[in-house]
Amino acid sequence: MKQYANERIAALCAYVPGEQPRDMQYIKLNTNESPFPPSPRVAERISGEEAKLNLYPDPACTELVAAAAASIGVKPENLIFTNGSDELLNFAFLAFCDAGRGIAFPDITYGLYAVLCEMYGIPYLKIPVGRDFSINPQDFCGVGRNVVIANPNAPTGLCLPVSDIEMIVRCNPGRVVIVDEAYVAFGGESCVGLVRKYDNLLVARTFSKSHSLAGARLGMGIGSPELIGYLNKVKYSFNPYSINRLTMLAGLAAFEDENYYTENCKKIITTRERVKAELRALGFSVTDSKANFLFARSDKIGGRELYEKLRRRGVLVRHFDAPGISDYNRITIGSESQMEAFLAALLEIIN
Ligand code: PMP
Repeated sequence: MKQYANERIAALCAYVPGEQPRDMQYIKLNTNESPFPPSPRVAERISGEEAKLNLYPDPACTELVAAAAASIGVKPENLIFTNGSDELLNFAFLAFCDAGRGIAFPDITYGLYAVLCEMYGIPYLKIPVGRDFSINPQDFCGVGRNVVIANPNAPTGLCLPVSDIEMIVRCNPGRVVIVDEAYVAFGGESCVGLVRKYDNLLVARTFSKSHSLAGARLGMGIGSPELIGYLNKVKYSFNPYSINRLTMLAGLAAFEDENYYTENCKKIITTRERVKAELRALGFSVTDSKANFLFARSDKIGGRELYEKLRRRGVLVRHFDAPGISDYNRITIGSESQMEAFLAALLEIIN
């Protein structure tokens, strides 16, 4: 039997990203993108003479690092930029884990973590969340391995306070704790301030959600110089130019227009709270999400059935056929008018 792939890749079930169908125009509430365009500064920057696409980009992302350091209040050696935060997660799993250094994460969380473990041959421990999807920070102490926690978690949107994250970081000396803050701008509490205190904490951030740059692919890691040094070793060995010139300019422009993004996040939060209340009034159970999505189920209709019926009406949400959450759908918060269309389709379905 011919098999070109190595055993691990041959056996791997690849991560399945949210669908991006081409057959018609959908109201896309399935991949947690921002409904708002990037700041006008982004278009100005990338169409200007700085673009210089005949030249390689700066692998150290010097200007971007300086802008981020000033904005977040850390030192340049605390920062690394990557091609989306998925790439940062890849680098971190490669750098800090192997067959002898496993990792733990909640059993309901971002699906990529388990896929990375399968791909790199990393043993992983899934720690059960509560019936209400809550994470008990004590469960992450004494696990004898690295830890990754999405905070707010996906797809539940639930958020731990910084004090709980600090406890997890403190009770795992000598192990790396990765806190994935992809959704922190929508009401969560960031633990970036802990980076100065603990050398085993890596915070992962993305420009895909709050900064309307999902299409540009920009992620950022914040950690001790020691952790960032190892991540750079991987980055330079993997693809030193993983941030292209256009993305670098888009990122710089984003730092120049922070107000624009803060205002957009406020709008998303207002819409989220309104839609949450409307869903609850319709009898849905909805988690108390601090992210740019809601996670909801109803006794009146199954998760899969609702997903399919919404899809037929031109509204895409994300349904996960996974144990414990198949009754639910994850609904990205779009613009006010997109959410009106979603609620109208939902009413039609459940009545
Ligand atoms: N972390 C979490 C929890 C996510 O949901 C996502 C989005 N799929 C990512 C990281 C990756 O985002 P990106 O690669 O676009 O930065």
